[in-house]
Amino acid sequence: MNQARDYDLLIVGGGLVGASLALALSGRGLRLALVDAHVPGDPGQASYDDRGIALAYGSRRIFEGIGLWPAIAPQAEPICDIHVSDRGHFGFTRLSAKEEDVPALGYVVTARQLGSVLLGALRDCADVDWIAPAEVVAIAADEFSAHVTIEQEDQRRVLRSALLVGADGGRSFVREQLGLPIRQWRYGQSAIVTNVTPQRPHRNVAYERFTDSGPVALLPMSEGRCAVVWTVRDEQVEEIMALDDAAFVQAFQARFGHRLGRFERVGRRASYPLQLLRVRESVRPRTVIIGNAAHTLHPIAGQGFNLGLRDVAALVEEVLRAHADGRDPGSMQVLRAYESWRHDEQRKVAIGTDGLARLFSNPLAPLRVGRNLGLLAMDLLPFGRHALARAAMGLAGRLPRLARGLAPR
Ligand SMILES: Cc1cc2nc3c(=O)[nH]c(=O)nc-3n(C[C@H](O)[C@H](O)[C@H](O)COP(=O)(O)OP(=O)(O)OC[C@H]3O[C@@H](n4cnc5c(N)ncnc54)[C@H](O)[C@@H]3O)c2cc1C
Repeated sequence: MNQARDYDLLIVGGGLVGASLALALSGRGLRLALVDAHVPGDPGQASYDDRGIALAYGSRRIFEGIGLWPAIAPQAEPICDIHVSDRGHFGFTRLSAKEEDVPALGYVVTARQLGSVLLGALRDCADVDWIAPAEVVAIAADEFSAHVTIEQEDQRRVLRSALLVGADGGRSFVREQLGLPIRQWRYGQSAIVTNVTPQRPHRNVAYERFTDSGPVALLPMSEGRCAVVWTVRDEQVEEIMALDDAAFVQAFQARFGHRLGRFERVGRRASYPLQLLRVRESVRPRTVIIGNAAHTLHPIAGQGFNLGLRDVAALVEEVLRAHADGRDPGSMQVLRAYESWRHDEQRKVAIGTDGLARLFSNPLAPLRVGRNLGLLAMDLLPFGRHALARAAMGLAGRLPRLARGLAPR
């Protein structure tokens, strides 16, 4: 290894994805750095806000492999069934953990809860230099290393690393600097996120309901609450966010219906403009981008972080294999192996999520009939349902060791 390098791997971005990567690689003999613009625990950091994150069963396995699941589990509410329907129409389908022979299809935690476990564990990692608050302001690469210029307290310095990982979110600076080709689409929709307490117990069922103004998801949470992801058109956001709690609950009830009785309490609200963004290439010499920096999805299917965590699992496997063989973990050979492994799934999940978001936001009658027939067919055909459940759980395709619940090696 070239001694002029400061690190073997430098991660830009300590959000859910970057922090997970640092933890998965810690303790493997690599010199690691994690740079983030926010100090850990900064209440203003959007990565760790109150949004409910549906962790797929496959993500549980990855956290098991990293050794973090025991710390996450006490706060994670299992999803035992998923009920998908088109509001006011005949089609629906149901996925069940029992049918799939797993303890749960997934689990719901808030980003804040997950963040506190990840950042807490990172504090104990002596081999991770956690550089924050610091902003990455320039990047470059030569044959041997990536050169990352960081600005901290008005001072600039350059760090050299065998590999630079851009996990710096949807507005990725690293992606922009590399000029990676992207596909981007704004939906003209926003997600309003909160939690509600329904009159009837949620019984660990997640509801995905499609309405003519966009999809609504209700996910089971701890203490009998449900996480709400309510997709609305951009022009409606201001009005809905300005409603008082009683009027908000009434409006949401009208969208979701009374399957869980009346909604009695509502938590804090936040809204997020929605877009699809996907890179068509994710590597350049000495650099790779992962997580939301590589793909930012509509939250309809709760796949964004799950997909990013599978990027982490695959990258960990390629980097550790190279390290164990005495190869350079930042070489183009390693990066190409990662890219060809991940590209197909990233593309499929992005296209599938986008298709769902568009199809189920469209009020045109022929499309409505078609999608209802689709849901009904899915319900009647166990093989279709099984394939959908495996994909939703993150268990389809080639799985890295971590996604099989095994420690990396
Ligand atoms: C409403 C909503 C609901 C969702 N629900 C789900 C769900 O149920 N399941 C699911 O899997 N996913 C869900 N997601 C998606 C999920 O939240 C994201 O995929 C995930 O949080 C992305 O994490 P990240 O680490 O890639 O990016 P981010 O969280 O954006 O982190 C990027 C980090 O990089 C840092 N950074 C940026 N630029 C720089 C720089 N120049 N220098 C230094 N640091 C920098 C930032 O400070 C930040 O900490 C949802 C998203 C939304 C909006």
